[in-house]
Amino acid sequence: MELGEPDESGRRSPVPVPGSEFEVETDAVIMALGTSPNPLIARTTAGLETNRRGCIVADEDGVTSRPGVFAGGDAVTGAATVILAMGAGRKAAAAIDRYIRGTVSGDGTC
Ligand SMILES: Cc1cc2nc3c(=O)[nH]c(=O)nc-3n(C[C@H](O)[C@H](O)[C@H](O)COP(=O)(O)OP(=O)(O)OC[C@H]3O[C@@H](n4cnc5c(N)ncnc54)[C@H](O)[C@@H]3O)c2cc1C
Repeated sequence: MELGEPDESGRRSPVPVPGSEFEVETDAVIMALGTSPNPLIARTTAGLETNRRGCIVADEDGVTSRPGVFAGGDAVTGAATVILAMGAGRKAAAAIDRYIRGTVSGDGTC
């Protein structure tokens, strides 16, 4: 890969270098690439909105587009920090508690 031209935000993303591919014989492969969320999330969970980077779309309380499903941390923000993930977890826990007690609906409305 090499860095491509900057996009509208000024960020340069990696692009493949044509003809640089090669094959390696293996018995098994464990994928550990990049820092974006597991793509299975979007492919397997109907009604769970994700953005173009594959991150789960959630509001400040971790409320997602799928009723009763809450999310926070790197799966929402993309690669960030432990303290942000912990904060998101605390907020989501409070929102889940309100949801279970029936004082808020899964889509965040009261
Ligand atoms: C190399 C590296 C260095 C870092 N250094 C720092 C640092 O110095 N300071 C800092 O603040 N942050 C650092 N970070 C970032 C920090 O690790 C993350 O922001 C933080 O761990 C995010 O927490 P999280 O709970 O959102 O996700 P994670 O910690 O990634 O937890 C997600 C969990 O979900 C599990 N999981 C995934 N898919 C499934 C599934 N289908 N079913 C069940 N479980 C599943 C995973 O195994 C994992 O245990 C670093 C990250 C990396 C990669």
